[in-house]
Formats: sequence, C-alpha cells, structure tokens
Amino acid sequence: MLKKGNKLYSILTGNCPKCHLESMYLESNPYIIKKIFKMHDRCSKCNTKYKMEPSFFFGAMYVSYAIGVAICIAIFLLVYLLLESSLLNTLFIICLVLFVFIPLNFRLSRNIWINFFINYDPQAAKN
Ligand SMILES: [Zn+2]
Repeated sequence: MLKKGNKLYSILTGNCPKCHLESMYLESNPYIIKKIFKMHDRCSKCNTKYKMEPSFFFGAMYVSYAIGVAICIAIFLLVYLLLESSLLNTLFIICLVLFVFIPLNFRLSRNIWINFFINYDPQAAKN
C-alpha cells in the first residue's frame, strides 16, 4: 500500500509530491523543532517548486485544524466513552495528545496540503 506513486506515501514520508524521490524537508524528523520549518525550495530530482506562491502553506492551517479536530474526537471516544474517564481527565488527555502531536500535525498538514495540488508523475520519478 505504501509504495511510491501513492499519495499516502508522499503524505506520510514528506517526500516530494511529484517524484516521491526525496524529502521536502531539510530534517525529516519533525521533532527536531529547530528545523521544523526548514524546507528545500525545490526538489533536486524533478525541480518541483514546493512553495508554489507566496504564503502557499498558510492553507495547511485548515488541514491542521481538521487533523486536530479528528484527534480530539478520537481521544474523546477512546478515553471518555470507552475507558469511562471523567470529563476533566478527558480534556486534560486531549490537550496533552494535541500538544505532543503539534510537530507531526504540522508536517502532516503541509504534506496533505501540497498533495492537493501536485500529483505524482512517473516521468518525473525516472529522471
Ligand atoms: Zn521531486
């Protein structure tokens, strides 16, 4: 399932959305906070420009919001309904999980956002 050519591959690995051959980020680990915002300008393999227009990645905020809501709902269902924890504890756990997932959410939302606009191109992957 997670092969080159699949959008999920680019989204989960942070690789170039067009050729899937290299990471868009200078540091692929999102938890190295100092470098979390550092991206290459272009893909060195297929020359795709990642920041297609100024402020391109502001749109990723909407994706980030959706991921955040999904995490909240998932944690609520798990902790409050399944484990029958108190509302206050559930709220605390939701905040904690959201906090821990900030770097991952940040990267995932950028990856999803850019994959809305750029599709995999097998020709680009051959170069
Ligand atoms: Zn590329």
